[in-house]
Amino acid sequence: MGSVKLFGGIEGGGTKFNCIVGTSPNDIRREARFPTTTPNETLDEAIRFFQQAEADFGNLAALGIACFGPLDVTPASPTFGFILPTTKPHWSNFNVLGKLKSAFDIPIALDTDVNGAAFGEWTWGAAQGLDTFIYLTIGTGVGGGAMVNGKLLHGLLHPEMGHIRIPHDIQRDPYEGWCPFHKDCFEGLASGPAMEARWGQKAETLPPNHPAWDLEAHYIALALANFIVTLSPQRIILGGGVSTQKFIFPMIRQKVVEILNGYVQSPAVNEKIDEYIVPPALGARSGVLGAIALAQKV
Ligand code: ADP
Ligand code: ZN
Repeated sequence: MGSVKLFGGIEGGGTKFNCIVGTSPNDIRREARFPTTTPNETLDEAIRFFQQAEADFGNLAALGIACFGPLDVTPASPTFGFILPTTKPHWSNFNVLGKLKSAFDIPIALDTDVNGAAFGEWTWGAAQGLDTFIYLTIGTGVGGGAMVNGKLLHGLLHPEMGHIRIPHDIQRDPYEGWCPFHKDCFEGLASGPAMEARWGQKAETLPPNHPAWDLEAHYIALALANFIVTLSPQRIILGGGVSTQKFIFPMIRQKVVEILNGYVQSPAVNEKIDEYIVPPALGARSGVLGAIALAQKV
């Protein structure tokens, strides 16, 4: 009848859930966010939001969920759509996809939060036209989504880019690191909570001239250099709470160029680094809009 098909998108984060109904960044019909508590309570709230939207706008064509992990994203797996064992209380082995399926008899797309954000940026944002790039979040956790040769990367489980090991100079930075599994992996050294534990104050309260930022840019640049030489991304998008500090972008870019030391022979790195390491074009909505984009493809 010519009516527009509406989609639902969920970005399931470790601290909050974002939900939207719409078709694109320019057509968001309704939006809500609420804290992540227990899985049943949190998903019930999301389900009520979409049921109300269906009552008001008509049935949704499909749902997409971009969810924190570790998450089983292998369709053939018996636990597809489950949260895998995690230190996050209550969520281990919870069937996120099953819970949504029991409430909505429509196609439901699922991927990690960071792959969702990558897909949102590819569809409408800073990665349009690329086929190989990464989206990294630096927030409560550190994680990365990747598209490789036009497809979102899953592999064995899904990448865990926050847990790579990077050089940690104990003389310069005696802080032991935050990760419960590895202590001083990338996330253990560079996440928001790591900054807070190291400096005794929240990252958002550290002024631009504080030494915290040079160290933070150093760790991020080391990690990006590793991703550049392993995945050969055509662009790197840096999202998450810590990356909202725009002044760290020039610091990170300069350090990446120094660390690579001329080895990667591309103008993207050597001449146009300002366009190579960039913030998300969709701001804080990359993930939830990515969930809509995933739903449109399912
Ligand atoms: P989440 O990762 O939980 O989805 P965020 O991406 O906002 O949420 O990350 C939260 C972390 O980022 C916290 O450790 C917080 O201190 C830090 N953070 C949030 N906003 C800022 C900011 N504007 N500047 C620096 N750090 C921030
Ligand atoms: Zn780790």
